[in-house]
Amino acid sequence: MQNEILSVTNLTKYYGSKIAVENISFSLHANEILGLLGPNGAGKTTTINMILGVLEPSAGHIRIENHDVAKDRQLALLSTNFAAVYSPLPGNLTVRENLNVFGKIYGVKQLDSRITELLKKFHLERFKETRVGTLSSGEQTRVSLAKALLNRPHLLLLDEPTASLDPNIAHEIRYIIKEFAKKNNTAVLWTSHNMYEVEEICDRVLFLDQTKILLEGNPKTLPKEHGQKNLEDLFIVLAQRGQS
Ligand code: ATP
Repeated sequence: MQNEILSVTNLTKYYGSKIAVENISFSLHANEILGLLGPNGAGKTTTINMILGVLEPSAGHIRIENHDVAKDRQLALLSTNFAAVYSPLPGNLTVRENLNVFGKIYGVKQLDSRITELLKKFHLERFKETRVGTLSSGEQTRVSLAKALLNRPHLLLLDEPTASLDPNIAHEIRYIIKEFAKKNNTAVLWTSHNMYEVEEICDRVLFLDQTKILLEGNPKTLPKEHGQKNLEDLFIVLAQRGQS
């Protein structure tokens, strides 16, 4: 049986009287990359923030490796990590200092060698003594991704991880994350507006439309099943339907 890492049940979020996420349920297994797709404002970031315990759900449950995030947040998040542009690392600390601080927070063993390994993997060696706040956005993204892999998480949440990366680095990052997930049996939740990327990297996708899950399936076969050429065309059709 597949090893379930994340389970989301009937999750709902209101901001005041406005509903942002409405009664969504899904699960995510070890060594699976799940794409969370949907137009701007569909509720992707809100969902990720509830999984991280940063936002309190209005209703529903989230379990990570069988720990209830609402009741046991610390334990649930011990082997979770994330990267998102809206959550930048402290800009006045150098790359090495940042990785060192977060490595200690996550209790990473043999931290120095883990940092050296990640600096190399993300081509950050020449920036190791540079303050993160002075790096370009693509360089900062690579530091955030290195931070996100520090503790070899069982659950990795990536909110538009390649949005600010050039095509060459983005390609390499997708490969690094895929290999990482395979090697460590990690479950990855990945949001992106790049449908070519999603087709390439995700094993399964959920399409959120105006708060709800509209479609779920294999990104390689879904377009054909719905009479579309590719995922981008399917996205556009679904998003336009949602607007009308
Ligand atoms: P994008 O693709 O643009 O990043 P998203 O799918 O991540 O969008 P969310 O950021 O989750 O969407 O937003 C979902 C809805 O909730 C949007 O309509 C947004 O305006 C609203 N929203 C998000 N945060 C708040 C907040 N703090 N207060 C009120 N409304 C909010």
